[in-house]
Amino acid sequence: MDYIINATDKNRELSVFVAKTTDMVNTMRSIHNPSPVVCAAIGRSMTATSIMAIGMKGEKDKITTIIKGNGYIGNIICVSNHTGNVKACATNYNVDLPLRDDKKLDVGRAVGTGGSLTIIKDLGLKEPYIGNSQLISGEVAEDYTNYFLNSEQIRSAVGLGVLVDVDYTVKYAGGFIVYVMPFASEDTILKVEKNISNLSSVTDMMKEGKSPEDIADVLLSGLGCDILSNKQVGYECDCNKDRIEKALISLGKNEIKKIYDEDKKVEIQCHFCNKKYNFDENELLHLIKKIS
Ligand code: ZN
Repeated sequence: MDYIINATDKNRELSVFVAKTTDMVNTMRSIHNPSPVVCAAIGRSMTATSIMAIGMKGEKDKITTIIKGNGYIGNIICVSNHTGNVKACATNYNVDLPLRDDKKLDVGRAVGTGGSLTIIKDLGLKEPYIGNSQLISGEVAEDYTNYFLNSEQIRSAVGLGVLVDVDYTVKYAGGFIVYVMPFASEDTILKVEKNISNLSSVTDMMKEGKSPEDIADVLLSGLGCDILSNKQVGYECDCNKDRIEKALISLGKNEIKKIYDEDKKVEIQCHFCNKKYNFDENELLHLIKKIS
């Protein structure tokens, strides 16, 4: 069972989120069948997206993160809401690269070191909030840290990890985000920085049997650790025929007319869960009338 905890230090100067996301990344893997390096890249971004989303207040609030790297994967899109449940997709799932010298998956090269991270927050206002920053390493965690600083002026530390087993299943996935409050004292910042620099990787800690609570304890060592919430998360696609119909309508009347004239039917597959939706002759005709 995957879950995310939110913890804070005794002075409430830090907001710490720690996630276990092994099951949701495994579900993504069973839907998209990605190569290990793509699985790791998507899994890292899914984990960060889920953590960011779970802090949102409104039931209809939505967050979309788009990594548009200049590497082999293309785009990685993750969508989540206040439940922290995530859906994800990418342009190219079949990227095979040699391991790095340290025997780790070369996520940076697969994502690309150039490009952008765009985050769209739909908070039910007239216009969504759109933030954007350059990718700095393609390793995902550093790119999110850079995004928070440059786009939202928030100091943070982000750690994300996905360990893919020899049979391509996900053995461990998880991550943390430490947000530093604007009023945090220098002493607290120094202490948490020291804790983070002494930290082993998220997947190494999970391998040692550490739970998100244990990892929060390590992050907040010497600062007091108060756990505020614990929420279950998972992979969830919320597609339905109405939404797919809207996507079809967005193609425009001429395009739908062309489909109608040529094939009299169309099958559209959801990019996030591969579910297929069929529109027959009557439904296409109805759509064409609806747009007119
Ligand atoms: Zn779907």
